[in-house]
Amino acid sequence: MPHVLVLNASYEPLGVVSMRRALILVLNHKAVSLEDSEITLHSATAVLPAPSVVRLTRFVRVPYRGPVPLTRRALFARDHGRCVYCGAAATSVDHVIPRSRGGQHRWDNVVAACRRCNHTKADRHLADLGWRMKHPPAAPAGLAWRVIGTGIKDPRWRPYLEPYGGLEQFRDFEHHDHTDHGGALPAPLGRSHPVHRGEHPEPLSA
Ligand SMILES: [Zn+2]
Repeated sequence: MPHVLVLNASYEPLGVVSMRRALILVLNHKAVSLEDSEITLHSATAVLPAPSVVRLTRFVRVPYRGPVPLTRRALFARDHGRCVYCGAAATSVDHVIPRSRGGQHRWDNVVAACRRCNHTKADRHLADLGWRMKHPPAAPAGLAWRVIGTGIKDPRWRPYLEPYGGLEQFRDFEHHDHTDHGGALPAPLGRSHPVHRGEHPEPLSA
């Protein structure tokens, strides 16, 4: 089942939830659908379009979460899935200052790389090889990264995420094939946990 973008009542992106969880939010009036997906859901008595973007009806206070978690997925999103040294498709994570030389596993020392560059570079410094990068690596910033970092993409989300950072990454948003996967309404609907003010509507990532 596809995923659904969840926005706070303030329109700030909160994250991504399963279609099932989004439907429960909508059917319990905790959220409203802002954007439909191409999927139509059928129950015994109703037919309705499945949401692609929902907005919570009440503002949820989100605790400060610190920097975007450094995951392979988020790193590849930051570097557009390309090797920062040669531009080929990235397949591995490279430590700019090699770990064997004291380099740390931090946003400002990791880059996406192809296998060949990673192998060639091995445990050497860039200066040893005469290589350079266009930009020094840095931690991504902006609320949109709560979504970009999951690696889940939907072109319909773009206008809702664009004001919140990661602008360059949206060029990587591609149209999914619009096949109708169909789906059933979640049941029973009354048993979900309500989202209270100040509570995080977890889980927000896949
Ligand atoms: Zn390369």
